Amino acid sequence: MDTKWLIRSQSIVTLAAGMIYPYYLLFLKNLGNSYSKYGLAFAVFTISSAAVSQWLGSRLDRHGIRLLTWSSVGMMAAMLIFPWITSYSWVLALQLLMGVCNAMQKMSERLLLADYTEKGERGPVIGNFHFWTSVASGFAVILGGQGRGGSDVLDDPCLGCRLANNRLEAHIVYETEAVTCLLDHAPLNEGHILILPKQHYADVDDLDESTAIEIMLTSAKLAKALKDIFRPDGITMIQNGGIFNDLTHYHMHIFPRYKEDGFAWQEPADSSNAAGRLAETGEMLREAIGLLR
Ligand SMILES: [Zn+2]
Repeated sequence: MDTKWLIRSQSIVTLAAGMIYPYYLLFLKNLGNSYSKYGLAFAVFTISSAAVSQWLGSRLDRHGIRLLTWSSVGMMAAMLIFPWITSYSWVLALQLLMGVCNAMQKMSERLLLADYTEKGERGPVIGNFHFWTSVASGFAVILGGQGRGGSDVLDDPCLGCRLANNRLEAHIVYETEAVTCLLDHAPLNEGHILILPKQHYADVDDLDESTAIEIMLTSAKLAKALKDIFRPDGITMIQNGGIFNDLTHYHMHIFPRYKEDGFAWQEPADSSNAAGRLAETGEMLREAIGLLR
C-alpha cells in the first residue's frame, strides 16, 4: 500500500490548521490578558495531549486510520468554534479538545507511516512526508497573513476593539482620536454610556498616560451632558476589571442616577474581617505603592 494518501491528507490538514493558527494565537492573547492565563491555556493543551496518549496507545494498532480521521474532524470543529466563543472557560475546553486531537494525529501518523513501509525503506517516505507537511505549513503562514479581507472576528477577536473602532453597529454619542463613547445596549438608566479606548487595553493599569487622561476628561464632558439632558440627582461611574470586565477590553460606565432608581452598591458578604484589619491593610498598601516608583 502506498503512503501518498497519507502525505496528501496530512498536508491539507496542516495547511488548513496553519492558516487559522495565527488568528487563534491572537485570540488567546486578547482573551487571556495575563501571562498566567495564556500559560494555563497552553498547559491544558499539552497535559490533555499527554493524558490520553497511554490510553490511545493500547488502541492505536487496531484503530490507526480511524484515530487519524477523528483527529482531523476534531481539529476542524475546534477551529470553526473558536471565532464564536467569548469566555475563558470555553478557551480551556477548546484547548482540551485540541490537545486530545493532537495526540491522536501525531500518534496515528507515526503508526501509519511505520505500517505502510518496510524496514530499511522508511527513510525516503518519512522524508517525503516531512517535506510536504512542512511545505503546507509554510504556505499556510503566507496565505494566512494575506487573507486579511476575511471575517472581522478573525481579524480582531476582541469585541471591545471592534465596538471602539466602528466595526460593529453601535449608538456612538461622542468620539475623539483615542476614545469612543457609545450607549450601553442594556442601560441601567437612560443615558448609560460606555467610554472605550480605541487601542486595546484590558485593565486600568494597562492604560497609557494620555489615554487615561483622555478617558477622565471625556467622562467629565459626558457627565455635563447627562446633567443637562436628564437633570439627574447624580452621576455614577464604574469600571470593572479582571473577570468582572465582560468585554475583556477596558471600558468606563457612566450613567445618570436618581434617588429611588433602585441601583445599589451591594456590599459583599464579608468573612475576611477587612474592617478589623484597616491598620495592617494600610501598612501593606503603603509599602506596595512605595515599591511602584
Ligand atoms: Zn480590545
